Amino acid sequence: MAFTLPSLPYDFAALEPIIDAQTMQIHHGKHHGGYVSNLNKAIEGKSDLEKKSLEALIADLPGVPDDIRTAVRNNGGGHANHAMFWQIMAPPGNGGGGEPTGELLSAINSHFGSVAELKAKIADAGAKRFGSGWAWLVVKGGKLVVGSTANQDNPRMGDAIAGFSGIPILGVDVWEHAYYLKYQNRRPDYLAAWWSVVNWAKVAELYKAAH
Ligand code: MN
Repeated sequence: MAFTLPSLPYDFAALEPIIDAQTMQIHHGKHHGGYVSNLNKAIEGKSDLEKKSLEALIADLPGVPDDIRTAVRNNGGGHANHAMFWQIMAPPGNGGGGEPTGELLSAINSHFGSVAELKAKIADAGAKRFGSGWAWLVVKGGKLVVGSTANQDNPRMGDAIAGFSGIPILGVDVWEHAYYLKYQNRRPDYLAAWWSVVNWAKVAELYKAAH
């Protein structure tokens, strides 16, 4: 097996009351688990692809054979997006929530004016993404940029494929499977509540590695 489903760094119930345990269990085990197994099925026997890192694989979709490119795009993207999503969350009040600090805070203030303005831009990108997708904060050319992608596209796939590009340091899943049990159709409420589980220390670590 080329890729494996990473364990959650906390219990299914750890993000309550922001994200309920049942959503986490289904989301991690069934949805993310499905992306990993379907990715492995797609690249099975293709040792050149099996040897690649996930980031390298999704960053070079034109180099993937035609007959499995869509499967690698959807399931490789799904794996990458969720692997980061679990890492950039933490229990509210115990690593999750609060505000960014240090170098990341300075960068946010210089690019967006304030953390509140960054949050508003992410909320807007997530709310306006029609159907399923993700809202992102990425590093691109040394700058911080907010945008969104459809389905499981990842900004590492590049503009030509994902319509938005950069190295993601924060991403929020706006597929209904991420929030429907608790928030039903109220995606903006989920996006507003989600900040209480954001692990800014991890986002800062990703920012440091990305620029
Ligand atoms: Mn998801």
